[in-house]
Amino acid sequence: MAHAQTAPSRYVVEAYDIHKSFGDFEALKGVNLTVAPQELVFIIGPSGSGKSTMLRCCNLLEQPTSGQVKITGEEITNRSVDINKVRQRIGMVFQQFNLYPHMSALGNVSLALRKVKKMARSEAEDRAQAALQRVGLADKAGNHPTELSGGQQQRVAIARAIAMEPDVILFDEPTSALDPELVGSVLEVMRELRESGMTMVVVSHEMRFARDAADRVIFMDGGLVVEEGTPERIFTDARSDRLKSFLHSVT
Ligand code: ADP
Ligand code: MG
Repeated sequence: MAHAQTAPSRYVVEAYDIHKSFGDFEALKGVNLTVAPQELVFIIGPSGSGKSTMLRCCNLLEQPTSGQVKITGEEITNRSVDINKVRQRIGMVFQQFNLYPHMSALGNVSLALRKVKKMARSEAEDRAQAALQRVGLADKAGNHPTELSGGQQQRVAIARAIAMEPDVILFDEPTSALDPELVGSVLEVMRELRESGMTMVVVSHEMRFARDAADRVIFMDGGLVVEEGTPERIFTDARSDRLKSFLHSVT
């Protein structure tokens, strides 16, 4: 069995039978999620269905009540694993960008490279500058968050994730806090990331983006995966009443 645990996995993320309770309330009731290399998996569902909790269980920002999570085959729900090390391999982009207000864009992107990856300043800043270039913000490296639009701030947050060269990036409603005219620039960056082969899990209400860019769509409701399939299948051939009524409410 020791052998099986170290064997390479064909999945980047595997989560099996994840349960998560908050007190008496069961937010996740046995959710499975597997994400293959370079796959973009989209999670949709009504507010309160457990989408964020599921994402957070994938990097142990929430400890599942039971179930197993593996990242590139390594079981991270095993208590002997150094979770801080594993988290370096899992990028996370939140609705609220969580940038440090007193630091420039370059400072925000290079911080973890220096503090966590222990890179020298010049190397960290070179890599951060390259990440900012990828999100179209090479000329904003010296700007502070307050000098950037919401869309630009979110692109800095994405650059921060990219710079760590993670195995997967988890996005939790990355465009929900943005003015409508700024959403497109963030989705464009995400589309380019996908084309460059990044493995991504995206929670979002941007159904058109899901249709265009997702390899697979997962519909959650009430702490469970209710339906799962290609975008084509989910958006044109909904089977459950719950998915039908959800799609009706958002499109
Ligand atoms: P979604 O992201 O789909 O809107 P969440 O995963 O945020 O849903 O929440 C799922 C359910 O779990 C909700 O009912 C929410 O109120 C509850 N919940 C989430 N986090 C906590 C927490 N830290 N404490 C108590 N209840 C929580
Ligand atoms: Mg949420």
